[in-house]
Formats: sequence, C-alpha cells, structure tokens
Amino acid sequence: MPERLDDTLQQKLHDRLRYYDDIGVGQFYRSRGGVVPQPESLSAAASNPMPQFEEQILPKRESRLVPSVPASSAPARKLELPVAADSGPSLFEAAIKIENDSLLKIREDLGECTRCKLHKTRNKIVFGDGNPKAELVFVGEGPGADEDAQGLPFVGRAGKLLTQMIEAMGLQRRDVYICNVVKCRPPQNRQPEKDEVAECSPFLMRQIDTIAPKVIVCLGATAAKTILQTERGISQFRGEWLEFRGRKLMVTYHPAYLLRNPAAKSDVWKDLQKVMAVLGLQVKKGKSA
Ligand code: URA
Repeated sequence: MPERLDDTLQQKLHDRLRYYDDIGVGQFYRSRGGVVPQPESLSAAASNPMPQFEEQILPKRESRLVPSVPASSAPARKLELPVAADSGPSLFEAAIKIENDSLLKIREDLGECTRCKLHKTRNKIVFGDGNPKAELVFVGEGPGADEDAQGLPFVGRAGKLLTQMIEAMGLQRRDVYICNVVKCRPPQNRQPEKDEVAECSPFLMRQIDTIAPKVIVCLGATAAKTILQTERGISQFRGEWLEFRGRKLMVTYHPAYLLRNPAAKSDVWKDLQKVMAVLGLQVKKGKSA
C-alpha cells in the first residue's frame, strides 16, 4: 500500500504542479505526443514596448506605445490534436449548434445549475459579462472568491490585471466578452475537475457560438486545454494563431500567472498585439495604456 501524503504536502504538490502547468511545462511529466506547431515570428510584435498593465501595487513604469503592427496575414493554424484521453468526438465537436440561440437563452438553460458538485459550495453563478456581439472573447478558468461573491468574471486581483490588459489594447471591458470554462467557483480555487468541465463547457461552447467573435483568447491552460481538447502544455502553442471552429484563437498566460511571474507580461503583450493587429486596433503613439 503506498503511503498517503499529508494534506498540506499534497496541497503544496498540487500547487507546484499547477504552477508548472501554468507555465507550460506540464508535459514534462506527462506527454501525449502529437504534432507541435512551429511558433511564428514574434519580431513584429516584439517591436512594441509593453504597456503599463501592472497591478496598482507594483511600481509604475513609464512606457511609450507606438502604433501596432499591421494586420497579420499569417493564416490561423488548426492545431493538430494529440490522441484524446477518450475516443469519439470532442465536447465541442459533439455540441449541437442551437438555432437562434442567445446569451439570455443559454443563461436560462443553465438555470440554478446543480449539474455538478460545484453548486454545493458556490454563492453565485458567474455566467459571463460584456458585449454580446463582441469581436473578442476572453475565456478564463473559473470564478475565484471575488467573482463568486459578485457573480461577475475577473473582478478580483487577476481581473484588475485583465482589465488593464484590455485597456492597453485600446478597449474597455464593455467592448469584449469575458467568461470562464466553469461557471461556479471550485473550492479553494482548485482546478476544475474533468466532470465539472464536461458539464459546464457545453454552455461555454454555446456562448462562443452565439457571440461569434472574430478572436477567442484563452487565458491559461485550463481554457486552452478545454477548448482545444489537448493535454499538451500551453508553451507549445502559446502566442501562435490557432483555429477553432473557423475562428482565430490565441492562447496566452492567465493573469493570475502574471501576478506571480511579472516577467511573463512581455510575452502576453506580444500575444495581445497580434490580437490587436487582427482586430485592426492601434495603440496611439505616446499614449500610455
Ligand atoms: N480567474 C479566472 O479564471 N476567472 C475568473 O473569473 C477569475 C479569476
């Protein structure tokens, strides 16, 4: 019989593995193979300095923004999916497209959801927020404590950073749509479990289909792995244009990861500049974000 790890050690191990997963080295200990897409050049995006989307608590840094790179002509690539854990169509391929669907209808269908165990500990369902006709949709992992209390996505520390990122792109939160893979807070902010994702993600799928954005940005590994149905670490495709059901999809780091690793903000800014180019957004010269 293997010895059982005590709860504190188990939690520490879990947090560490999650940290590695966030930074894309999850496949260090688990590999499913598959074709690794080659990252496209970052040189154009790298020429624009990073704006100030640091948290208020971090020292302010002067930054001057120059016009964004012209719209990229690089085609989005369909990620060659590795062997899936389960055979058969992915959650999303299998999802039925509902005619005349709307966010209102999806919210009604979700109801006071009890489909998975997360309902037992949640305070509020966090459905999503923003422009129902947004060209840009951000998908996070799941609500944290602040989101659970307010019923709105990304309103805590990570949310403030996401808001700064959106504003650095020349947009407001009301211009985009923000949602999560799971709509109820996982206890202790643990990662959503497979069964929870399986119950909740069809609603995410309907949200994406209904909004029909030009670009989807997956924030972190859970969103990327859920939508792309892959087990691969996100470092293998972060910052690269991918295609998801005919839409452009970009995977970047989760803002919570950036709070722990501010050095990764420059990578995220490069990713967001690519998104800006596709959406025809320009950061005004001399204007600090
Ligand atoms: N992290 C997420 O992934 N989503 C939220 O809504 C808040 C924090």
